[in-house]
Amino acid sequence: MTKAVVVTDTQWDTYRYRVRSAAMVTPVIRELWLEPIGEVLPYRPGQYILFADDRYAVPQRSYSVANAPRADGRLSVLVTLVPGGRTSTWAHEISVYDEVSVEGPFGTFTTPDEATSPVLLLGAGSGLAPVRALAEALLDPSRPEGAAGRRVTLFFSGRTARDAIDRERFEEWCRNVPQFDYRLTCTRDAREQRHTRIPALLPGEFETLRGVEVFAAGPSGFVTACQAAAEPLGAATVDIRTEEFFTDPAPWYDTVPPIESAYGARAPMQEGSS
Ligand SMILES: Cc1cc2nc3c(=O)[nH]c(=O)nc-3n(C[C@H](O)[C@H](O)[C@H](O)COP(=O)(O)OP(=O)(O)OC[C@H]3O[C@@H](n4cnc5c(N)ncnc54)[C@H](O)[C@@H]3O)c2cc1C
Repeated sequence: MTKAVVVTDTQWDTYRYRVRSAAMVTPVIRELWLEPIGEVLPYRPGQYILFADDRYAVPQRSYSVANAPRADGRLSVLVTLVPGGRTSTWAHEISVYDEVSVEGPFGTFTTPDEATSPVLLLGAGSGLAPVRALAEALLDPSRPEGAAGRRVTLFFSGRTARDAIDRERFEEWCRNVPQFDYRLTCTRDAREQRHTRIPALLPGEFETLRGVEVFAAGPSGFVTACQAAAEPLGAATVDIRTEEFFTDPAPWYDTVPPIESAYGARAPMQEGSS
């Protein structure tokens, strides 16, 4: 069993960044690389930021940092375009060199440096962001998180191969990094080796998850289904970490209608059916 992670949110601050590059990495996800203008945001792999324009014309929204901390301080975010969504639409329209506000770090979707257990990373859609940051850190022996050489399996779910962000990079890691395994499922492409949703696949893929630290990130329905599938396989509740990309309710409406998802009405994001 892994020791609980204690990460306080008390040391958050606001930082100025500039868009260094922007690219669509799937039909609905834009990756932004941000570079610091002044001070660099300190964070642990797996944490998230509050992101908005530098004049707060759009509401601040939570986005997981999609890379492990780097010497140049650059941050990547993977933003799914939510139809009618204010901040995600803005993030899909901003230009290189635009200045943005980054507040953080936040969250406990992190792993203790001293842990040695195997790690299972589960992501769907832009839920790849925090698990990619964790994978980068865990596989880098020069980082505290990577010192133990923990076994890391990254299981990613998309609809089709076009949603498989960084597939080539992860497949190359698989060939070159013995402690790493990458498994992909494409839920709308029967030609792929795996095309069933991750929660349903887990019992066939893993005999047991006893002693494994499990991380699941993405739409709420995906995350809760992964948690429900991991527990019967022996993963200890304390070892299952979740990051639900829920959508903030708009307080000026009485109710927020549920948005349909293959995982159930709680999942609000378009990629929920992956
Ligand atoms: C910890 C955390 C990490 C996250 N990380 C990521 C990430 O890495 N990448 C990512 O893409 N997302 C992430 N999210 C989700 C992200 O924070 C935003 O919620 C998401 O981008 C939508 O924000 P928005 O401003 O574009 O949409 P909003 O303007 O909030 O609208 C969202 C959707 O709901 C609809 N809606 C809102 N209110 C109502 C209402 N009252 N009635 C009817 N419809 C309504 C809108 O039309 C729209 O379709 C994360 C969330 C959390 C909590």
